[in-house]
Amino acid sequence: MKKFYICPVCGYDKIVNPIYDSNGQGTYEICPCCGFEFGSDDFPDKEQAFKNWRTHWIEKNYLWFSNYTKKPENWEPQKQLDNITKIEPNNMVR
Ligand SMILES: [Zn+2]
Repeated sequence: MKKFYICPVCGYDKIVNPIYDSNGQGTYEICPCCGFEFGSDDFPDKEQAFKNWRTHWIEKNYLWFSNYTKKPENWEPQKQLDNITKIEPNNMVR
């Protein structure tokens, strides 16, 4: 089964590539849902950056970021946010 990665900002759970390496360095993967770039947008503090980005994303009414990856059908962004609570360290790292 294909492994996907969960975005710690918006909870999108179909990110194709790892978002951090085993040293915690961002891979420059961009979440197709909220547009957060891991390794660029997470300084100086990851948790704070996730939180700030999430707040802005919600303020923009859950704006879908990617033109390339299509929004899932019957997408429920409020529900998707629940995925964040399920994130374990191996959900982010290869
Ligand atoms: Zn995201």
